[in-house]
Amino acid sequence: MTTASATAPAQGTEEIQDAGHVDVLVVGAGVSGIGAAYHLRDQFPDRTFVILDAQDNRGGTWWTHQYPGVRSDSDLFTYGYRFKPWRGPSIAAGGAILEYLDEVIDEYDLDKYIRYHHRVTAASWSTEDRQWTVEVTRADTGQRLRYTTSFLWMCQGYYNHDKPYRPEWEGIDRFQGLIVHPQRWPEDLDLAGKRVVVIGSGATAATLIPAIASRAEHVTMLQRSPTYYFAPPTTHELAVMLAPLDLPDEWTHEIMRRQYITQYHWLARTSFEAPDELHAFLIESIRPLLPEGFDVDKHLTPRYRPWQQRIAIVPDGDLFASLREGKASIVTDTIETFTEHGIRVSSGEEIPADIVVTATGFNLSVLGDVAFAVDGEPVDFTKHVTWRGVMINGVPNMAYVFGYFRHSWTLRVDLVSDLVIRLLANMQDKGATMVVPTLRPEDADMKLRPFSDPENFNSGYVMRSQHILFKQGDREPWTHMLEHEQEREILPKADLDDGTLAYR
Ligand SMILES: Cc1cc2nc3c(=O)[nH]c(=O)nc-3n(C[C@H](O)[C@H](O)[C@H](O)COP(=O)(O)OP(=O)(O)OC[C@H]3O[C@@H](n4cnc5c(N)ncnc54)[C@H](O)[C@@H]3O)c2cc1C
Repeated sequence: MTTASATAPAQGTEEIQDAGHVDVLVVGAGVSGIGAAYHLRDQFPDRTFVILDAQDNRGGTWWTHQYPGVRSDSDLFTYGYRFKPWRGPSIAAGGAILEYLDEVIDEYDLDKYIRYHHRVTAASWSTEDRQWTVEVTRADTGQRLRYTTSFLWMCQGYYNHDKPYRPEWEGIDRFQGLIVHPQRWPEDLDLAGKRVVVIGSGATAATLIPAIASRAEHVTMLQRSPTYYFAPPTTHELAVMLAPLDLPDEWTHEIMRRQYITQYHWLARTSFEAPDELHAFLIESIRPLLPEGFDVDKHLTPRYRPWQQRIAIVPDGDLFASLREGKASIVTDTIETFTEHGIRVSSGEEIPADIVVTATGFNLSVLGDVAFAVDGEPVDFTKHVTWRGVMINGVPNMAYVFGYFRHSWTLRVDLVSDLVIRLLANMQDKGATMVVPTLRPEDADMKLRPFSDPENFNSGYVMRSQHILFKQGDREPWTHMLEHEQEREILPKADLDDGTLAYR
């Protein structure tokens, strides 16, 4: 076994260079990949691994998104890892999250495992060789590399970092102002005196608008339909109470984690059991923060059940302060056309704009858009089902990380990592070199369901991509998107010898 090494790039070479073999190859250096690497290093210090990321730096989402005000909409006690205390306010700026990830990388000496500019393009499994061959193109030099690995751990996130989603709008070519997507924010964008229209009303719009409202002439949030907002304090009142007690950071982290986990379990449960009450609670909790006479029904009353799409967090109600100060306003209507100097909506109103920000979301990417093949056969994921939201049937020695929609993504990173570590240990105990989720005879006629049941979760980026995503079944372990409240019980106890995993 040799350790992978990033050899000096040979500029312009078309030939694929051998980059060596690793026991585990992690794709992605965002919160998932860094978390996976921590658990691997902690539990299997003797195994070799690398983390490959297409970008030029760590952080994934938090490196890609650098727009003004970018911040979490989860609390960092649960968005932070189980093993690394968070010391700041509950809601954190993107830069503070990157600093936290840097501390994890430093403390656990993970930097030496990460290779930036490494885009994984293809992965082919060979049962005969019991390994994946992974093809990589270096984003900086164009050099092509080939790794082999015994286990592939996909931590690629859920969206394309290079191509944000932007719908086609009529008249866009004649618009004489500037169009910006938050995923590609120009560093030197001057907002002074500018009329800005932000299209969209999700977390990105809610975050961006208060951050730019004081600099711009005016910011209009243009939405087709309203989003749920919740306006908790940036620092939780429990954290304020704990602060003078001078507790060890680990205690505060654990206490605050439990507080937020309990609070979010309640929110998720109530969204199913008493959606009307939760709807009323969310709307009434923001009403006092709005300007007098504000049309709450039109602009801030969503037509779907709470949590069918993510609830956007507005810490300390800062978006509503911008509305009260008259620096921002909301238009709820559909775009008819762009004009030379703005956007005309269906009512006939023309909203003047010097800059249009398209906070319109993502293009979902299935497993990093890597071309997978198993024993020479290309894998068409639409014909496959998930195994516990961690592996895919018929795809050997491959795990993936997909976090929660209704809770902090990272809560699932730790849970999935524990499961993968248990799986690797189980293989070792059995002397197995291959594990593949396999439908049992009783699962043969199982009814397949879409990746996401729209009744459960129907955000635009998921609904737009259902046709390219893998499926789920109607029974365990072929389901996913369970709530954290259930999964924190189910995943640690999951039977790895229940007949749904074939070891060889
Ligand atoms: C602005 C914003 C705020 C958010 N806030 C929250 C929040 O508060 N709470 C929450 O729970 N979730 C939030 N999310 C969702 C967020 O994406 C996840 O929380 C989390 O960051 C995902 O981490 P990840 O490591 O799985 O994926 P990502 O952060 O997407 O990172 C994946 C990495 O993999 C790399 N990669 C992908 N494909 C390949 C390939 N083929 N080859 C090589 N490298 C590849 C990418 O370059 C990227 O660096 C937010 C999302 C956005 C956009």
